[in-house]
Amino acid sequence: MSLKMPPPDQAVLARRGEIAAALRAIVPGDGGVIDDAKALRVYESDGLTAYRQPPMLVTLPQTTDQVSRVLKWCHANNVKIVPRGSGTSLSGGALPLEDAVLLGMARFNKVLHIDYEDRLAVVQPGVTNLGVTKAVEGAGFYYAPDPSSQIACSIGGNVAENSGGVHCLKYGLTTNNVLGIEMVLMDGEIVRLGGGRALDPAGLDLLGLVVGSEGLLGVVTEVTVRILPKPETARAVLIGFPTVESAGQCVAEVIASGIIPAGMEMMDRPAIHAAEAFVRAGYPLDVEALLIVELDGPSAECDHLIGEVEAIANQNGAMSCRVSTTEAERLAFWAGRKAAFPAVGRISPDYYCMDGTIPRRRLPEVLRRMEELSQTHGLRVANVFHAGDGNLHPLILYDANQPGQLDRAEAFGSDILKLCVEVGGVLTGEHGVGVEKRDLMPVMFTETDLAHQQRVKCAFDPQLLLNPGKVFPTLHRCAELGRMHIHNGKVPFPDLPRF
Ligand SMILES: Cc1cc2nc3c(=O)[nH]c(=O)nc-3n(C[C@H](O)[C@H](O)[C@H](O)COP(=O)(O)OP(=O)(O)OC[C@H]3O[C@@H](n4cnc5c(N)ncnc54)[C@H](O)[C@@H]3O)c2cc1C
Repeated sequence: MSLKMPPPDQAVLARRGEIAAALRAIVPGDGGVIDDAKALRVYESDGLTAYRQPPMLVTLPQTTDQVSRVLKWCHANNVKIVPRGSGTSLSGGALPLEDAVLLGMARFNKVLHIDYEDRLAVVQPGVTNLGVTKAVEGAGFYYAPDPSSQIACSIGGNVAENSGGVHCLKYGLTTNNVLGIEMVLMDGEIVRLGGGRALDPAGLDLLGLVVGSEGLLGVVTEVTVRILPKPETARAVLIGFPTVESAGQCVAEVIASGIIPAGMEMMDRPAIHAAEAFVRAGYPLDVEALLIVELDGPSAECDHLIGEVEAIANQNGAMSCRVSTTEAERLAFWAGRKAAFPAVGRISPDYYCMDGTIPRRRLPEVLRRMEELSQTHGLRVANVFHAGDGNLHPLILYDANQPGQLDRAEAFGSDILKLCVEVGGVLTGEHGVGVEKRDLMPVMFTETDLAHQQRVKCAFDPQLLLNPGKVFPTLHRCAELGRMHIHNGKVPFPDLPRF
């Protein structure tokens, strides 16, 4: 692994036994603290498996009070903390550190309160994304953001990553569907952010700041989410195209026409074939690109919009067009898309999932240039992504057992993200920065931008104990940051440690 992390604090490592005993006193009982080397290996990576590091210790608290006391003790004893939900992050956000305690939130798994009148649910952060929908679907409600990992990923992780999914095009990302949180700061203080029932709480939007902050500002211990009534009708359209460019052009034109589909996803030939072989979704195999477009709402509106989407598709040379006629068929269309990542895992020993966002009108050009990059780096790429949002997920196929292939995959991924920024896009869409995109942050932000972002981190965690090594390519001591001067957009930090 070529990843550079902060050097471990040897003084902390020498106190491992004492730290485990202190944490056991706070989180007693079976599984409260894990220090056995074999058991720690379970936590050595998240969904970004290219990087692995067993944690110093794991603790699995069950109450907010325990989280608060763990953080307070670690704060007083200068011990770092890495929060973890279900460990599905694709950017290495939950990657452990050698000298840090991994704080797992898996035992915070209860739905605390449901209010159908106010359309909200209060849940603990370890509840899975799908678990929220399961809790309310009997009453005809659902939770809209639906990452493909929804069966496993936790709401706490979704908040930390501002996660998205197929239906976020119309219903917004996590940030648009979270109403309030309870969070524990690194010094143990318990705070509540956001309004819960009120749409626009007074004061600065600190909730907006915390959603997407990747476990760097506090540990989320309770989440109030918006729940929505299920739409009267939802129908999906499968549209096959002769080229990825024509499919990309169709996406751009549908959005430009003012239609906002509930979801609009694209898969290219390698992804279509892998998904079809895996789940038999009924995808056409003679096309180069496939769009799945879902329209929802009153049935007459759906029929009208489907007609408009079909017309735009035909103008862009669509080869085939199938509209779902039953709920089972609609779910089958989505099953292939949702299983696309594991399906691609069957055609390549390893894959590296990238995540960048571009202006939708640049889709055809970017897809073409990605194909050229694939030739340059000598690695295949399968594309499956949230086309309506311009959120790309190229899956770079490689074999970690072949010397040099991981390095080539990383270089290819880095070129893709630079291309996203070059065309006016951004480094991430929904997977976060973590360690994966950390060193690319200067491609998008100046030193001054990054210094200001770190000032926010310092306001919450001045000792830099929460999830260090993630997001910021260089972490400056907060005291020095407060005294910094900016010359010509450059921040001079001559004597500060860098990693
Ligand atoms: C097959 C697959 C498909 C995926 N599809 C999507 C997709 O469609 N859309 C999408 O957005 N993502 C997707 N992901 C990525 C991932 O599932 C999301 O980022 C998810 O939100 C991570 O949740 P988690 O519970 O696994 O968090 P973890 O991986 O455990 O942690 C992620 C980050 O959140 C922090 N964190 C976790 N819990 C807390 C807490 N309680 N308080 C503070 N910080 C916390 C961690 O420190 C870390 O920085 C996919 C992943 C996989 C493996």
